[in-house]
Amino acid sequence: MEITPYYQKDIECLHCKKKFITTKVRSRFVKIESHESDFQPIYQNKGVNPLLYNTFVCEHCGFSFTEDFTKYFAPGVKEIIQQEVAFKWVPHSFGNERSIQEGIMAYKLGVHCGSLKKEKNVNIAGLALRTAWLYRIENEEEQEKRFMKIARDRYIDSYSSDDYSGTQMSEIRILYLIAELSRRIGENEIATRYFSKVIEKQNKSIEPKIIEMAKERWQEMREDKEKEALSP
Ligand SMILES: [Zn+2]
Repeated sequence: MEITPYYQKDIECLHCKKKFITTKVRSRFVKIESHESDFQPIYQNKGVNPLLYNTFVCEHCGFSFTEDFTKYFAPGVKEIIQQEVAFKWVPHSFGNERSIQEGIMAYKLGVHCGSLKKEKNVNIAGLALRTAWLYRIENEEEQEKRFMKIARDRYIDSYSSDDYSGTQMSEIRILYLIAELSRRIGENEIATRYFSKVIEKQNKSIEPKIIEMAKERWQEMREDKEKEALSP
């Protein structure tokens, strides 16, 4: 029997507790060819994108979440989710193979539900950044920028409230992402400020690759600025 890249998994909804299925990609079918400068993974097999399957969408109530969401709901939050998500939800499944558009929809629902549930900024930022990456694959530049800005703003909130500590996100990485996303949305002043913060930490960092990337970007920005100054 031929093994497909996909398998299905039972998930229990964090909100309504009902069960539904979701599709996942077998890790042996996932090979990363390279990364973009904002860490977007470029996969060898363009037909199988595991990024599409990070968000679980409950087909019964619409609540959408990832493995990073906590089980805890603050008082009053369940009522808000019932009002804002479940009452408006027309039951349908996101459980099978997803198109890029369905992947985008799933992430947007995740951003919405995560915001209502007050998940950590670093998690919401991650969902928004992945939404931007999917729009990038679709060449929808305006939407890509819109979600990069949402991610950038959430990373700034995460950095100032320190809600990334204890997650996989390091200080260098979050500073770098704030800088690089700012550069990509054309907010060069903020980008320069945050690239400098990354470079300042070079003696303390165990992530030399990210320091190098920050230096490259910083250099590129300086060259662009010089070119601009020279052009009539
Ligand atoms: Zn549910």
